[in-house]
Order: sequence, then structure tokens, then C-alpha cells
Amino acid sequence: MSPAIVAIDGPAGAGKSTVARQLARRLGFSMIDTGAIYRSVALAARRAGVGWDDDEGLRKLLDKGLPISFVAEPEERVLLNGEDVTQAIRTPEISRGASVVSARPVVRGKLLGLQRSLGLQASKGAVLEGRDIGTVVFPEATVKFFLTASDDARAQRRHAEFSEKGLDVPLQEVLGDQRRRDQHDRERAIAPLRAAPDAIVIDTTGLDLAEVVERSHRLALERLSQASSIKGKLQR
Ligand code: C5P
Repeated sequence: MSPAIVAIDGPAGAGKSTVARQLARRLGFSMIDTGAIYRSVALAARRAGVGWDDDEGLRKLLDKGLPISFVAEPEERVLLNGEDVTQAIRTPEISRGASVVSARPVVRGKLLGLQRSLGLQASKGAVLEGRDIGTVVFPEATVKFFLTASDDARAQRRHAEFSEKGLDVPLQEVLGDQRRRDQHDRERAIAPLRAAPDAIVIDTTGLDLAEVVERSHRLALERLSQASSIKGKLQR
């Protein structure tokens, strides 16, 4: 039986990672952070001296395969070629690079199969978070959430995350970068950031993310059990 898929899309700082991680834990599903995959491409390109908009260079780089893997325990880690790049892919520079490479059709085309196979390899189910999971990667996902929040609320969350990591990035810079990245993600020609028509939209402005986890867990359980009872009836 194919694993259940939960899609969580939305702009940066809307709370997707926190919600995806906790929802996956509660459901006993794997969690796949697809932004980390685009970030790893940006980092790999930078290290190989390939421009983020150099389609030919990116194609050659990805033709070799992107040796990326995720470790869940004892803590979440992203490995590229066996090297722990968890921190290296979270800098403001790599955020900008990820937004640029992710608009290149050659990159999206190559990563589509990788994301689908990571989701389908999950034993019980997978929570995938990104920008186009419910619209392009898994349009057939059983549950789709689209998390959003005001610009200020999202920038403040990102700013707090940077501070926790000891990165001193001024709030105005975080807000400016976020606006440029959002605009780029929404306006690109391929797989732009938008809510799937059947997604449950949650505005997390002013909400405690623990509350959002509760709500999305309840809704996910309802949808997953509806889907399995429909499947059961069809199989009978
Ligand atoms: O989610 P995160 O901020 O880590 O994503 C980094 C960038 O990767 C985003 O700004 C977006 O351009 C790109 N991305 C994407 N599609 C996804 C996930 C991320 O285009 N499914």
C-alpha cells in the first residue's frame, strides 16, 4: 500500500518546519524538508563554482546525482556527500541561492523525482514541507495544508531563529530578504508558491505554533481516517 502523504506549503517563516516536524512525530511519519534540498543544490553549486542561474552548469551538477540524505535521530541533520551541511545551508546567502536555483526548470525537473521517491519510500507516511508539494510534487496528497502569516510575524520568527543560532542579522534585513524571496517564489513561471485549491489554509499570525500543531493534527487525523475508510470500501 502506498504511504499516506501530508503536504505543508507556504512562504518562509509561516511555521511550516515546526508544524511539519511535530505533526510527523505525532503521526509516526517521516518528515521531508524539501527546502533543504534546494538549499543543498545552491550550496553544491557555489562550491563547484557553478552560477545559480547557469542552467548548463546546474544540469551537469545534478546529472551526477545529488548525494543528499536526511538523518532524523538523535537530531535532524542534512548530509551532502556524507558531510553535515545542516548549518551551512541555513545562511542568508544560501537562502538567496536556493530561491534562485529553485526557479530554474532544469533544477525543478531533476528534483521532482527525488522528492517523490523520498515520500514514497516512507514506511507509514510522510509529511513533506515546501512550496509546491500540494500543487506539483504530490497533487494527490491525502492532506494539504497551506500555512501563511503576515510579513512582520514571519520576519520576526526568522529573526529569532537567527539570534538563537548566534547570527546577528538586523530585522530590516531579514524582512527585505524575505520580501524579495517571497516575490521571486510567487512570481516564477514554474511551480510558483500558491495554495492548492483543496488545501486547508491556516493563517498563523499571532497564533502560538503549538496551537497550530494541535489544529493541524486533528484535521490530519480526520482526513486520513476518511481516506482510509473510502479506500477500505473501494477494496471490498
Ligand atoms: O523552505 P526554505 O526556506 O528552506 O526554502 C528555500 C527556498 O527553496 C525557497 O525560498 C524556495 O525558493 C525554494 N523551494 C521551492 N520549492 C520547495 C521548497 C523550497 O522552490 N518545495
